[in-house]
Amino acid sequence: MKDRIYSILEEAQKKIAEASNESVLQNVKTAFVGKQGSLSLLMKELPNVDVEARPEMGKLLNQVKNQVTALIDEKRTNLKLKASEVSDDFDVSVPGIMPASGGLHPITQMCYDLNDAFRSMGFEVYQEDDITSEMYAFDKLNFPQNHPARESMDTYWIEGHDSGNTNEKLCLRPHLTGGSVRYMQTHKPPYRVIYPGRVYRNETTDAHHERAFFQYEVLIVDKDITFTAGKVLIQTILSKVFGKHVPVRMRSGFFPFVEPGFEIDMECQVCGGKGCSVCKHVGWIEVMPGGTPHPNVLKAAGVDPEEYTGFYVNIGLDRLVMMRYGVDDVRLFHSADLRFLKQFK
Ligand SMILES: [Zn+2]
Repeated sequence: MKDRIYSILEEAQKKIAEASNESVLQNVKTAFVGKQGSLSLLMKELPNVDVEARPEMGKLLNQVKNQVTALIDEKRTNLKLKASEVSDDFDVSVPGIMPASGGLHPITQMCYDLNDAFRSMGFEVYQEDDITSEMYAFDKLNFPQNHPARESMDTYWIEGHDSGNTNEKLCLRPHLTGGSVRYMQTHKPPYRVIYPGRVYRNETTDAHHERAFFQYEVLIVDKDITFTAGKVLIQTILSKVFGKHVPVRMRSGFFPFVEPGFEIDMECQVCGGKGCSVCKHVGWIEVMPGGTPHPNVLKAAGVDPEEYTGFYVNIGLDRLVMMRYGVDDVRLFHSADLRFLKQFK
């Protein structure tokens, strides 16, 4: 038996040395130390060996088995090291091919920056679906029945009706404000919430208008909110986004869902307020309309207008990005033209 053990060991050593890859080595392992391997089979013959010689044989068998296993492990490590070696004909001095890396779209970057700025002031981020209904887009926002924005010239109406609501026409949301009603209906005041997203208008496109564009709306509802607080908020946000103080001015404006309403202009960042083609030579750019939520809107959302008041701001994300980079045509941002977009990585 001793001779057979030694000859198996010799054969195993030879096979292990010859193994040129992992799978051959695995086969060698199975052939010698596997359950049906030659060493394991010898183990089973031990009971037939003379009682006196049996302990010595058993010991030797175990030693050889351990030796073979150790040799296989060592060989495996060597094979792995060899596999990661650089072959001789590989020229490390040849310039590599730069892998193409992606980047965030400038509008997304702006959106994230605003999210950061608002979150740092305790605002919650809310998302509404792109498809909404006439009820949320107009009825609950105090839009009169005959308001021109309801017409097909402005709103993309969709076939079908809002489930659960009778005769509520579906549409692509023409603005984000409907989302504020959905939010208020499911949350208890006070609110500090932002809800960015894409809105859709059936418009003729030009340098300042697109059919689908991004908006960013902010809503605060609390007791005793003043216009001054709103103005300070906007000024803070703009200085965080632009990294410097940006002068703003407020003008009165009219929107059905606010009373009173305002327009906020920021100093044109392309010309620094001197006047240029982007700001139509007035030095100011209209970036965000807003106002105090109309009592009818608060009522429609289940909030008592006698107790609560608030502040809406609707930031034109595209326009803010135009200001940030001094780009004078909004369509470029939606053109998917990589030559243009790569500049903002
Ligand atoms: Zn300008």
